[in-house]
Amino acid sequence: MQRTELDTYLNQYLEVARFRDYCPNGLQVEGRAELRSIVTGVTASLALLDAARDAGADAVLVHHGYFWRGEEPRVTGTRRARIALLLAHDINLFAFHLPLDAHAEVGNNVQLARILELPVAGRFCEQDIALHGAFDAPLPLSALARRVAERLGRVPLVIGRDDQPVRRIAWCTGGAQGYLEEAVRLGVDAFISGEISEQTVHLARESGVAYIAAGHHATERYGIRALGEHLAARFGLAHTFIDIDNPV
Ligand SMILES: [Zn+2]
Repeated sequence: MQRTELDTYLNQYLEVARFRDYCPNGLQVEGRAELRSIVTGVTASLALLDAARDAGADAVLVHHGYFWRGEEPRVTGTRRARIALLLAHDINLFAFHLPLDAHAEVGNNVQLARILELPVAGRFCEQDIALHGAFDAPLPLSALARRVAERLGRVPLVIGRDDQPVRRIAWCTGGAQGYLEEAVRLGVDAFISGEISEQTVHLARESGVAYIAAGHHATERYGIRALGEHLAARFGLAHTFIDIDNPV
């Protein structure tokens, strides 16, 4: 398919225009015009680009791309190396940040709910990105933490008592520890995100809302992969998801 056709489709499918974001969403680095094979990954790191080039990708699609607001804009050092690789091999780079967190089918938060079997009842927070719901019956925090460890392949950092019952739950993938306060206001028993900050611990302890830091990378693997699978099924593109491990 043509790059322009994919670009138009993605902007519409992911409702890019609906979001105020910290980076440009969509085509970030232009490569060849015709696409047969795509690679998806969480972050457009040099390791992912190397692997995508070896796989013969015409386009790389990521959740974390380039050109973040407030970031040093000069194309030097590691940024130069990444962009040089894309340009030298004529590979397109597409990035989708908040639109991919929020999407109702391939979004990171909906996909995390699928992996962890979390009940989706509604949305909250900035631009309706985060999700919440309630289990039919409460489960102990330790059981939920075990499920997170098993399904994501990474032991989470948990703030709360093992036997604390969790019925109402909210979650937002990545670095959404700042949303804990809104989750507390929502009245949930536990909040899951990727990262954790020093102050998150105190807020969790003092509010009584348990906090599970399940990993930024570990919680954001699923949206971009689901997007790649969707595009492969719809347009007949060859698709490979490449997981470049990140302990954070
Ligand atoms: Zn992220």
